Amino acid sequence: MDFHTHLQRRVSAEDLVGHMDAAGVPRMVLMPLYYGDGPRAVNDGEGSDEQAAEYARRYPERFVPFVGMQRPDLLSDAIWWHPTTQSRWLVQQTDAKLRSGEFFGMGEFMLRFCPYTTRFGIVAPSDMDYPADSYLMRTFADLSARHHAPMVIHCEAEPKATDAMVRLLEKHPEAIVVWAHNCGRSSAQAIRALFTRFPNLYADLGGMVYSGPGAEAYGGYWPRRTPWMHLVVNDMGTLLPEMKALLEARSNRFFAGTDVAHARGYEFYFTHLPRWRYVLSQLSAQAAHNIALANATRLFGSAPR
Ligand SMILES: [Zn+2]
Repeated sequence: MDFHTHLQRRVSAEDLVGHMDAAGVPRMVLMPLYYGDGPRAVNDGEGSDEQAAEYARRYPERFVPFVGMQRPDLLSDAIWWHPTTQSRWLVQQTDAKLRSGEFFGMGEFMLRFCPYTTRFGIVAPSDMDYPADSYLMRTFADLSARHHAPMVIHCEAEPKATDAMVRLLEKHPEAIVVWAHNCGRSSAQAIRALFTRFPNLYADLGGMVYSGPGAEAYGGYWPRRTPWMHLVVNDMGTLLPEMKALLEARSNRFFAGTDVAHARGYEFYFTHLPRWRYVLSQLSAQAAHNIALANATRLFGSAPR
């Protein structure tokens, strides 16, 4: 199952199913990418929760819709710390959607995120630094616990951002938190300690297996290198020893995900899978099965619906 993908307006359900069939992917999480294009931004987005739910109604075996959190409303410092009209509306809508049984999670929350430009013309210009332990994130964490709905959070594990994530986890041990991109590219040692301390914390490996020269993905020091980044594989796609040991030891806490983020990226969907299969082939059959499929099936299957 592809746990980390985004949904955009101009990608049809039929095209997605075709891409998944060509790649041998049975099921996909859809995280709607609401961001549109603007004077500075080219997102190729404009997806919506309604679109995701509609795709899942037509292909219930193939799609797992999430309530999308890449929204222009959330690109504002003001919305996080105190209730606003907008934040109350978003919380109420999200609660209703999760209660409806049509949505299985929330994400991707963009907290600490670096801007990038890709060779396909995508321009994501916002240098985001929003607080994980804010009123609004704590409210969503309550929703996660109440509905047993995972919340996928993008937060590069820089010291200040990590401290805030830990405070969120401490205050909300019942929330199901998926800290995307291998806990924001944390070290194997740090992730191991976090998993021990927080039983409801997971990591997705969104984009973490693509590496080598020219790779525009979180598997490398892209789009910006910081001292706090730790990779999962080397340039050849070989698992680094400490990460391999972690994936084996805690294989029940990880999810695989391609992280196709923009509509034009789906044309190349089939090109992602050989690297995933190569990386998973370096693990035991049980660990590979957990990461590729079983963990996600267990998580979504256990939802009260
Ligand atoms: Zn992300």
